[in-house]
Amino acid sequence: SGKKVVVVGGGFAGATVAKYLRKFDASVQVTLIDENPQYITCPASNWVIGGFRELSTLTWDRGALHSRHGVTLVQDLVTTIDPDAKSVTTKKGDKFVYDRLIVAPGIAIKWNGLEGYDEAAAELLPHAWKAGAQTTLLRKQLEALPDGGKVFMVCPANPFRCPPGPYERASLIAHYLKTNKPKSKLVLFDAKDNFSKQGLFEKAWANLYGYGTAQSLIEWVPASKDGKIVQVDVKNKTLISEFGEKHKGDVINVIPPQQAGIIAQTAGLSNETGWCAVDAQTWESKKYPFIHLIGDASIAGAMPKSGSSANSQAKFCAAAVIALLNEVAPPKPTWLNVCYSLVNPEYAISVTSVYALDAEQKVAEIKASAGVSKPESNKQLEALYTENWYQNIVKDSFL
Ligand code: FAD
Repeated sequence: SGKKVVVVGGGFAGATVAKYLRKFDASVQVTLIDENPQYITCPASNWVIGGFRELSTLTWDRGALHSRHGVTLVQDLVTTIDPDAKSVTTKKGDKFVYDRLIVAPGIAIKWNGLEGYDEAAAELLPHAWKAGAQTTLLRKQLEALPDGGKVFMVCPANPFRCPPGPYERASLIAHYLKTNKPKSKLVLFDAKDNFSKQGLFEKAWANLYGYGTAQSLIEWVPASKDGKIVQVDVKNKTLISEFGEKHKGDVINVIPPQQAGIIAQTAGLSNETGWCAVDAQTWESKKYPFIHLIGDASIAGAMPKSGSSANSQAKFCAAAVIALLNEVAPPKPTWLNVCYSLVNPEYAISVTSVYALDAEQKVAEIKASAGVSKPESNKQLEALYTENWYQNIVKDSFL
């Protein structure tokens, strides 16, 4: 057909959609624009922070999308979208026209969404919620921590990227402290009263880190116990809670409030929540026709913001876009999310669900499809599956 699809952002969502568009219809011209030459995965970046993985092994090239799948790759930042002219413009000043546009920019940090936490603060108290230099910085700070030091984590309210991510990170920091600095302590200050896979995490923490005892390496402070942090005093490495308590730490990981990637904000694709509403059948924007949004930036009903969700959404979005370009009805979607978390290098827990459109055309979980690790599950085998999941999703998305 020679139709043109432009994809903004080559993360799990954007890379997968570009690849599958070409797989479904090789006559479609697909251009993928990403500001970075390589992609560093957030999945497994907590393992780097835990000290048993190198960041270089999480760094991927997008070259195969071109050489194997015929996607045109552009390294540039998309700065504007013109929905009337159906074109995007980049920082370098190039213009790309489209028949359909897919926007997959991931998240942006809401700077000062937590008082005192701005870009400069992140250089001292890392968020490490985008993998790369921030991941390395947090790891280095943990290495420099004296035995007996205090590590704090600030956990955000929902919704945010990777709901179980902070708790996997806490587990692996605890693992590092237990093996290297056993007199130290990790405290999580949470803006919520419950969290993803809580039962599984707390059981693992009790098994491994003394959770629930006076000697516990991990303490979790929920919002109802004044765990909600409202201000960060960066200079004094101090967190200030909702009720005015001050906590001074040695290493502080702040996971700040988030929103859809900047281009979604500037192009007017997000709504008052900071995220982007879509038609769940096709992932077409509720604001502008011919523009689709997938991955973390989108409002995806019951699906969590994960690489696994992004990959699954991308495949059905690709199928829907090809159908729309060819003026046929889009297929009926069912999506998948699989989520593994390591609690130490040889102990993993998981949860998985299948999703479909409900009667109101929203993305809903098919309850009977859900599965979680059982008490008797083989934790070591699950840790092996975690590594296999990682290799498979990278292959499916980028190779
Ligand atoms: P991203 O992966 O962020 O990709 C967005 C891309 O768009 C980037 O490459 C960026 O450079 C590019 N971009 C943005 N704006 C522009 C622009 N204007 N122009 C050009 N390019 C642009 N998920 C799991 O499924 N399993 C896990 O185990 C897991 N672990 C995690 C652990 C941590 C610590 C974190 C933080 C996240 C984890 N996640 C996990 C979540 C996962 O990383 C995200 O859900 C996933 O990356 C979302 O994919 P995306 O494509 O929407 O966004």
